[in-house]
Amino acid sequence: MLKNIVVFIAIFLYSQTVEAQWFKNSFKVMGTQAHVEFWLESNEAKQDKATENIEQHAQQLISIVQGEMQRIDEAMSPYKANSELSLINARAGTETLKITPELFHLLQVSQKISRLSKGAFDITYASIGYQYDYRNQQRPNKSAIKKALSAIDYSAIKLDEKQSTVHFAHHNVKIDLGGIAKGYAVKRCLALLKEAGVTHALVNAGGDTGLLGDRHGRPWLVGIKHPRAAYKMAVELPLENEAISTSGDYERYFIEDGVRYHHIINPQTGDSARKVVSVSIIGKDPTMVDALSTTIFVQGLVAGMKLIDSLPDYEAIIIDNEQTLHVSKGLQQQ
Ligand code: ADP
Ligand code: MG
Repeated sequence: MLKNIVVFIAIFLYSQTVEAQWFKNSFKVMGTQAHVEFWLESNEAKQDKATENIEQHAQQLISIVQGEMQRIDEAMSPYKANSELSLINARAGTETLKITPELFHLLQVSQKISRLSKGAFDITYASIGYQYDYRNQQRPNKSAIKKALSAIDYSAIKLDEKQSTVHFAHHNVKIDLGGIAKGYAVKRCLALLKEAGVTHALVNAGGDTGLLGDRHGRPWLVGIKHPRAAYKMAVELPLENEAISTSGDYERYFIEDGVRYHHIINPQTGDSARKVVSVSIIGKDPTMVDALSTTIFVQGLVAGMKLIDSLPDYEAIIIDNEQTLHVSKGLQQQ
């Protein structure tokens, strides 16, 4: 009996020598807080001969994630004068520009969602969007909005797939990928982690979260913020291998004469969208859920749910102005 116990303890101790642990890191990028979390086992580290130990391997992976997010920020930020996006905004109104396949792809996806939503999602919202400054409580007046509205038109973005070029049909068109780029960045980072052999990971950038696998034997718990009580959660969802994106009117906003001006713009009016206060979309593709959460926010409860219920791969959780929670058909059946 005693001998058996000794053997058991020996086996137990031996199995404990296989190092495995969670690694986490948070950092600022793309004007928001990003977070990465993954499970690593020492035998995964050994696959890569250049890495001597599990900590070193984890640091490498964290650098890869940070580097990828920074790279995407450099290319797509409207605030960086030398970003590819800024270059497009400066020149595509007057000339046809060759752009990277990556940006071309995002412009194509954006246009697809614009068509799907009849313009609720429209990256040319930026033709007026750049005149809002939420930190300094600045907004365009009625005549400025009226003047800019004709330049809010996704069909003015002329894309040539063969040449990988873009041209704006109106001089004053500006674009901004704030409604889709963070989801894309999450997608890219998850792909890089997967490529490196990671099987359990979470990558988050602001309201966008992507998950690889589960949380080692149990689901990840992803919270949806309470739209009117900071630090409180409205819901927590157990998820695996999914992406979730939340668009809310509480992230960047100011209140003037009782009216909330925030960063999600109705392209038809040039004013903030106010039909609902929070929209979360769940699905496999982080880029799509990011764009769809912005889209459904603009569309509001009725049109938004109708669109989501027509897309089998996506589900929605919408919080309306009365703070009532609504879920799409696929979530009701579970
Ligand atoms: P967050 O950026 O807080 O994660 P969202 O994913 O909802 O939230 O994206 C909001 C961003 O989307 C805005 O900051 C802006 O850059 C962009 N945006 C605002 N209105 C629209 C719109 N109608 N269509 C496309 N993009 C939009
Ligand atoms: Mg979004």
